[in-house]
Amino acid sequence: MYKTLTLFMIISFLVGCKNDPSTTKKEPIQTVENIEANKTFGIVIHGGAGTILKENLSDSLETAYKTKLKEAITIGHEILKNGGTAMEAVTKTINILEDSPLFNAGKGAVFTFEETNELDASIMDGATLNAGAVAGVTRIKNPIDLAEAVMTQSEHVLLSGKGAEIFASEKGFDMMDPSYFYTEKRFQSMKNQKEKLLQKEKNNSSATTFATDPYSQDSKFGTVGCVALDKNGNLAAGTSTGGMTNKRWNRIGDAPIIGAGTYANNATCAVSSTGWGEFFIRGMVAHDISAMMEYKGVSLQDAASEVIQNKLPTLGGSGGIVAIDHNGNIAMEFNTPGMYRAHMNAEGELIIGIYKEL
Ligand code: ASP
Repeated sequence: MYKTLTLFMIISFLVGCKNDPSTTKKEPIQTVENIEANKTFGIVIHGGAGTILKENLSDSLETAYKTKLKEAITIGHEILKNGGTAMEAVTKTINILEDSPLFNAGKGAVFTFEETNELDASIMDGATLNAGAVAGVTRIKNPIDLAEAVMTQSEHVLLSGKGAEIFASEKGFDMMDPSYFYTEKRFQSMKNQKEKLLQKEKNNSSATTFATDPYSQDSKFGTVGCVALDKNGNLAAGTSTGGMTNKRWNRIGDAPIIGAGTYANNATCAVSSTGWGEFFIRGMVAHDISAMMEYKGVSLQDAASEVIQNKLPTLGGSGGIVAIDHNGNIAMEFNTPGMYRAHMNAEGELIIGIYKEL
């Protein structure tokens, strides 16, 4: 009898508590869905910086660039929205740009002095500080995929030339015929620069590979890059390029150099560069932006503008970067007349720009 009474009292107390508003939990229940919804993510891409002026770009070409930038960034954004990794978003987004003849990466790569195409790419995972890169490959359709394979399937960071291609074929990559990379526009651009250079050499003036400042002369650059922050707070950055028109002697630029063309660190930011690579290497541009955030505690935007608007031009370099930090803040900074660029935030808001003003 006593036991039954106690049980009755406990049940009454519990039922009472359930209906008493003062004991009802007020915070929304943390379902998997709303935990996910609280996590920010974002993606930023570039398609190269240079003398990109409205008067030099037809309306149809401008539309073509914007359409391709939108297509590429949407692919990456979809991956991030569905909980995919920043690394995956970066590679898949860059693949779209590499496959387009509009950009100087993969199909559409610029030509060397030797009239070939030599491609460079790199990728970095901000979660592990692991990285992979390839330089001077001539038969790889999507060099960013090979850079990722170097990172995940070898104990190295940077492979080059023939060796990189042997590695690629061992890992099952398709070998393209080099003619795949031919585009008339890039070929003519190289021919023009080469002619100027040979003329200069003939006149015995001190010739360099690049007849003049390539960044003020050639509006058709178009290296591609992507940085992303995923829902797990991981950052990644990747860059892919054909390098600079008329490059010679197996010249390698900044794109496959970790710290110069590409850098990612979950503690700070992810950066992809585009511009006159020699200066980006000397300035260690991508890492410098991250280091300023880490050592000085400055914001991503302040670090990016100090490096691109001040330090880089002091060296004599031109170009730009796209970057994203671990909170989803972004920077799209350049000191050239234009940079093909786009950003999409977690809400799916899209910004696309080509010239200084959006
Ligand atoms: N940074 C590349 C290089 O120097 C070129 C570019 O971004 O346009 O190879």
